[in-house]
Amino acid sequence: MPFQAKSAPQTGVSRHGHVSASQVKTAQMCLRKWAFEKVWMVRTIQQYHLLLGQALHGVGERYLAKVGGGWEGLFPRGWDAGLQPKDAKMVRTHAERAVSQGVWQAREGIIIEHPVTLLVGRRMLDHRGLPLLARAVTYTNDLGIRGILRLTHQEGGAPLPVGWDDLAPFIGFIDVFDLWAREMPLVEDHKTSKNRRYTLTAEELALDTQMLCYAAVALGLRPDADFVRLKHNVFLKNHEDPEVFETTAVVTTQRVAQKWEEILTISERMRTVYDHAPKIVGPVEHRADNWHRVPGAMEEGREEEACNAYGKCPFKDVCKRRCPAHTLVAELDRRAAAAKPVIPIAPVQRKTFHFNLTNHRN
Ligand code: SF4
Repeated sequence: MPFQAKSAPQTGVSRHGHVSASQVKTAQMCLRKWAFEKVWMVRTIQQYHLLLGQALHGVGERYLAKVGGGWEGLFPRGWDAGLQPKDAKMVRTHAERAVSQGVWQAREGIIIEHPVTLLVGRRMLDHRGLPLLARAVTYTNDLGIRGILRLTHQEGGAPLPVGWDDLAPFIGFIDVFDLWAREMPLVEDHKTSKNRRYTLTAEELALDTQMLCYAAVALGLRPDADFVRLKHNVFLKNHEDPEVFETTAVVTTQRVAQKWEEILTISERMRTVYDHAPKIVGPVEHRADNWHRVPGAMEEGREEEACNAYGKCPFKDVCKRRCPAHTLVAELDRRAAAAKPVIPIAPVQRKTFHFNLTNHRN
């Protein structure tokens, strides 16, 4: 929910912004952490990590968009802008292995970067308990990052229903979408990871918030389907041996509907926090001083899985009361301001390929 200006909403622009899978996952892990990042807008993102992932996604898009594959044009001039040479080499090896091992398969009928726009709300469900789908106008910014500009209508052409943005719509982009794959629709996502232990097993993949929400798109577009195949294309960031492998799972409509019920619950909690988390009026570094009013994983006995995950939550010193929130916020603001800007991506480095099905255009 990066929140929008309070002026009168433009048609199809949600009053409460959008939620992404990563926001929902963060909120499920710890509502307070989500509030730090998205209500009080305290930035902690590692820009270089994003750059590496973008470069790999760009190469993957260019390969997969060509029916029959082929290496020509995969690494256009500037594709590795901002990457250290050893990382650019690693991405090349990743790509070679993904192709030779069949993890990336360019073929007819797949859609690259298919937009995900799901309406969130208890009245925004179909008879199976799955979310209603909307269509949207998308854009790509100078950094090559895609976004949803506004929603236009429901999938199928009906107008957006009354109350469609009482809760922020769920948005995203499916890396590779094969709606008419043999046996059942297929949803793929490219994942880079430092270590195999951070990657999902097949059992975990079948429970994954992001992938199950993407599966909801497949089931919405293919009401005849009862199953969806999920696939993570995993790229381990190891310069000596850049391993590539895939993990797959098959999920049922029922599993997707169950997950969606969880999404509704957490979305309602996020909205409540946003509406009621008391704001501080005063110096900008004091904006998160009411952090203790938002429930945190630490007090819920989930310190190990939430506060200590991924090398430690950046807000832990505040939650442990080792330092005042405004001191940490001021420091993180200073670091964000001093961070090197991410290098803009030229259109040739990352193109949008939308095939059939949609009118989504940049
Ligand atoms: S330290 Fe723990 S409780 Fe505090 S914001 Fe981070 S995850 Fe939440």
